[in-house]
Amino acid sequence: MTATSRNECAALDAADPLSGLRTEFVLPEGVIYLDGNSLGALPRRTLDRVHRLIEHEWGQRLIRSWNEAGWWDLPTVLGDRLAPLLGASPGEVVVCDSTSVNIFKTLAAALRMRPGRRAVVAESGSFPTDLYITEGLAGTLDGVERRLVADARELPGVLDDEVAVVLLNHVDYRTGRLQDMAAVTDLVHRHGALVIWDLCHSAGALPVELNACGVDFAVGCGYKYLNAGPGSPAFVFCAARHIGSVRQPLSGWWGHAEPFAFEPGYAPDPGIRRFLTGSQPVVGGAALAASLEVWERVDMAALRTKSLALTDLFMRRAEELGLETLTPREPERRGSQVALRVRDGDPGDGYAIVQALIDRGVIGDFRAPDVMRFGFTPLYLRYVDVWDATEALADILRTGAWRDGKYAVRNAVT
Ligand SMILES: *Cc1c(COP(=O)(O)O)cnc(C)c1O
Repeated sequence: MTATSRNECAALDAADPLSGLRTEFVLPEGVIYLDGNSLGALPRRTLDRVHRLIEHEWGQRLIRSWNEAGWWDLPTVLGDRLAPLLGASPGEVVVCDSTSVNIFKTLAAALRMRPGRRAVVAESGSFPTDLYITEGLAGTLDGVERRLVADARELPGVLDDEVAVVLLNHVDYRTGRLQDMAAVTDLVHRHGALVIWDLCHSAGALPVELNACGVDFAVGCGYKYLNAGPGSPAFVFCAARHIGSVRQPLSGWWGHAEPFAFEPGYAPDPGIRRFLTGSQPVVGGAALAASLEVWERVDMAALRTKSLALTDLFMRRAEELGLETLTPREPERRGSQVALRVRDGDPGDGYAIVQALIDRGVIGDFRAPDVMRFGFTPLYLRYVDVWDATEALADILRTGAWRDGKYAVRNAVT
């Protein structure tokens, strides 16, 4: 059931069990933010938390804060707090580094667990860093072969007894297609390989059940749906059954069993800390700590219900305007974002339309070659926001405002 008027949207907002969370966020006046899938909004409590860290913990307490303020333990403390959002258990998640770096660590770790198998599978349409890192790894390690599939649906054609590990995106960054984690993980395991899920567009966007699906490894970032801010640390999940034996290649001192023994040889920490490398971004970690406090109040089932309703409303309205939807309409096949395209348009049309929308305060983004992408974050978006965003879109299309030459000028970040 989809709203057909702004009044109906307002009624849905009034009945929304998540509506109280909106006040947790700083939302600029006049902005409808449909880009929380790329950089989440600022939680109010993060301002205080980061200010306290810089002014007091760093400014006054200086090096004592590594112990006193819990800086040293932050990666595992945050990992344990994040675990419930991922369907993981305490001790299986550590917050560290960037997603790109964590992809490298988990891929190399998985290869080592399957001696004799030298193929790595990735998706050709995946977020490019996943491709670049697999390419870099294959170029660094002797005899490693990279195989590409369009997406998980093509896996049966490439899985054989040479494949060590498969790297997959849970939600496609461009189209918003959601993969069946349980079925795909099972398929990979039946061929004797391990799986790494990239959760960048699903962590905080929908319920994730890593352990229920038997997943081996997962990675994801903190600055999209988790709202931890630009440059905040990412995370690694490693199933408990693997932790005792897994070895990752970036064996820096933070992953050592006794970092302050300053021994010349490396011995990994017995637990998930072995995925650490060197000093971690404490300011970004504190921002994640603050945003995870908001997440403690979120019912993930309610989040998913609202997310699907918001994306459904947006897709219906966009289709009424004659735009093409690339995101699957079946609820079980999509994440919390929508990809649109101009039917029979030039590739640059989508870019110009997104720029014209941003000019009116409706912020989405553009992904080459021709995708207009909009993220829907149920913690701070209302149904009326979705309605108003589609009204702005309708107006831009009707008046042709987007054809103004100024909207064709490309910025570095699209
Ligand atoms: C955003 C994103 C990344 C980002 O990687 P960083 O190392 O944080 O820059 C990686 N993978 C996917 C699928 C993403 O969407």
